[in-house]
Amino acid sequence: MTITESREQKSGGGGETTIRSVSFVAFDLRFAEPGGVTVPGSGDEPQALLDRGPDGRAQLPGTSLAGALRELVGEERAEAWFGPVLEEGVEARASRIWVLGGRRLDDAPGDVFASTKIDRTRGAAHDSTLRREEVLPAGARFRVFLRWDDASPAEVEELTGLIAGWRPLIGRGVSRGRGRCVAEDVRHGTLLLSEPDDLLRWLTLSGPDLVAAVAVELVASGGAGADADVLFRVPVSIAGPWRIGTGEKPPKGSREPIPLRRLGGKTVVPGSSVKGLLRSRAEFILRSVGVSPSPCLEASCGECWPCRVFGYGGGQDSGASSVGERAAVRVADAVVADPVDAERTHIAIDRFTGGVLDGALYTTKVLEGGTFPVAVGRLAIDEDTEREVRAVLRLVLEDLNDRIIGMGGGTTRGYGSVRVDFEAATGLPSLDEARNELARMVRRSADDGS
Ligand SMILES: [Zn+2]
Repeated sequence: MTITESREQKSGGGGETTIRSVSFVAFDLRFAEPGGVTVPGSGDEPQALLDRGPDGRAQLPGTSLAGALRELVGEERAEAWFGPVLEEGVEARASRIWVLGGRRLDDAPGDVFASTKIDRTRGAAHDSTLRREEVLPAGARFRVFLRWDDASPAEVEELTGLIAGWRPLIGRGVSRGRGRCVAEDVRHGTLLLSEPDDLLRWLTLSGPDLVAAVAVELVASGGAGADADVLFRVPVSIAGPWRIGTGEKPPKGSREPIPLRRLGGKTVVPGSSVKGLLRSRAEFILRSVGVSPSPCLEASCGECWPCRVFGYGGGQDSGASSVGERAAVRVADAVVADPVDAERTHIAIDRFTGGVLDGALYTTKVLEGGTFPVAVGRLAIDEDTEREVRAVLRLVLEDLNDRIIGMGGGTTRGYGSVRVDFEAATGLPSLDEARNELARMVRRSADDGS
């Protein structure tokens, strides 16, 4: 008889009296990046809205947390502790560990991010694919509570030890720099119901108060380094006018300059833009050397190298479900250090006559300098693919440094030049090593195809 079955039978007649001990685990999940669990919006709303509780506050549903915890503990323990994977909604009942949900600790409002899908043939953004999604800002914090009946002290120690080093990815968009969380302030405690004091607390307190009163034993942090999942990182500096906007246009007739993408008062290079740029140039390089299967045009085949590495599925830059965008790597948002702010005025040219449109002057905010890191992290990736990613993206970065491609908006007008500081890079091969690896990829793909 499994644990699940015995619990179900006991619960028929006052099951709680058969429990000998109740352990509670409590910890904070802090979003180190913007993120959150979302639901589809409708009408004029953003396409993705934060999942909210009855009190209107953003919430992390127990099912999302339970799924992430299962991944943390591994398949074998997941089955023993959380029960077998059943249909959605049944899982919580069959679990020994109850995920009591996450309580929001801060009040920061959600941000609405707009992003555009990169057109793979032109390397430019499609206006028609503007998507808006609501996300929690980095720094959002939730207190998560777990209850575990009749757990052995060794089991509690094992679980809390794992949680103390936990840096889960929660919600959607994880491959474009969303959802990295850090577990902090991990505490646990156990009530022995044969002890009168413990029994009294069990009977007189409830909910978060009970957990807070019991789970007081602090677990030392596992201290997983922030860079534990980084494949490579390289500093990039802005050389000349540069802009990544929000994708949204100012109201007609507005004299306000078109803003840069900013977050918490800082100019931010969105992971989705960098990922789109790396991908479109990687596709070009792989096509030109004749790797097979040739990179698809729609980023949707799931077979070609860019699909396997960067993800695939309809609207993968922004609108896809977490299943559709399954990717091997991720690119996080980066903050621009030492930004040199400026404004530039442009004249809108009538593309049909080549004349200047009457009064069509507009001003944009730009950066003339500043530095930021391009960092690519691992999701699910094997050793061979890791080596290939480092090589192919080293060649993409070479093209970026040589100004063959630019970054951000206005590249056809000379915007978006950057310098890539290869000397200060970590995790990148030399140019020769990268070319050799690319040659091996071509040979391997030819062998596979014959
Ligand atoms: Zn493909």
